[in-house]
Amino acid sequence: MKITQKPFGIVENKEITLFELTNSKGLTVKIMNYGAIVTSIQIPDKKNYIGEIVMGFDHLKQYLESNPYFGAVCGRYANRIAKGSFMVDGKEYKLAINNEPNALHGGLKAFDKRVWSVEKIIEHPDKVGVLLAYISKDMEEGYPGNLRVSVLYSINEDNEFTIHYNAETDKTTVLNLTNHSYFNLNGCKKNIYDHVLTIHAEKYTEVDETSIPTGKLLPVCNTPFDFRTAKKIGQDILKLENGYDHNYVLNKKENELELAAKIEDPDSRRVMEVFTTEPGVQFYSANFLDGTLKRTPGLNFEKQFSFCLETQHYPDSPNNPSFPDTILKPGDIYLQKTIYRFSVK
Ligand code: BGC
Repeated sequence: MKITQKPFGIVENKEITLFELTNSKGLTVKIMNYGAIVTSIQIPDKKNYIGEIVMGFDHLKQYLESNPYFGAVCGRYANRIAKGSFMVDGKEYKLAINNEPNALHGGLKAFDKRVWSVEKIIEHPDKVGVLLAYISKDMEEGYPGNLRVSVLYSINEDNEFTIHYNAETDKTTVLNLTNHSYFNLNGCKKNIYDHVLTIHAEKYTEVDETSIPTGKLLPVCNTPFDFRTAKKIGQDILKLENGYDHNYVLNKKENELELAAKIEDPDSRRVMEVFTTEPGVQFYSANFLDGTLKRTPGLNFEKQFSFCLETQHYPDSPNNPSFPDTILKPGDIYLQKTIYRFSVK
């Protein structure tokens, strides 16, 4: 295994570096320290053909122009907060309304648009990786407390791509981190309807017309949301008004690393399993892409040509006391581990 790096451009007078992690099984993951963005994941298929399985760009400029969170770390609060308002210790905090009428993915200049510092390059016999960190100042984007967040991206010879998140604050705040990679195991060339998905969740969070949870956890049983046993994404997607964009309540013990989802592409026979310590996963079927963005000419990123499995806490948890807690207090350490494991069938 090895990790190499090359200059990728400059943002706000700071150097952006592109890191390339490779193992001997043909897995390559590229990461940059702008937005802690995963720009590329390539893995072999059944015939040993190596293909690109995430949406992203090969030039920094494209990320600066328009990026619908491709590969980025979202924070301080990934997903939505109703009307951009929440209370901490009896005080109300107001966030930018960047997804009418709510706040989405941490604000106008959130973690996905910040330059992260490169803290460490890891080259161990059993893994290679890079540790990125960012200090989010007190009241940045409206959130209380100076927050130090780090993300360790690594791969191993078992074709596991692991993300370790870690954060600490000096004032009580809210925190929900995720990685927003858009996958297509078939190489982003056709829609995801043939991908076969399993999500280990009996329930999902019901949402209102603005995608804010009502507080009710509804059973997926016999609904289009039912992925308890392997099902093609295309089987029920057209029964929904605008595809999947829902948070699943995972059947798992709090903070334990467990299998959340598995997805297979029958053509390439590529398989991805997602393990996480988080209580939820947002399954988003890239409903808001429209083909204007592309990595290479002709390979346009169309609507429902990719999916995100964003491991996280439930949307709007700060306003739903019955949901697992997203409060981080001084002295506490936020930890999350998520693994994407690749194989062929
Ligand atoms: C949200 C979508 C949103 C997308 C891109 C997802 O996490 O659930 O509603 O459009 O991110 O911003």
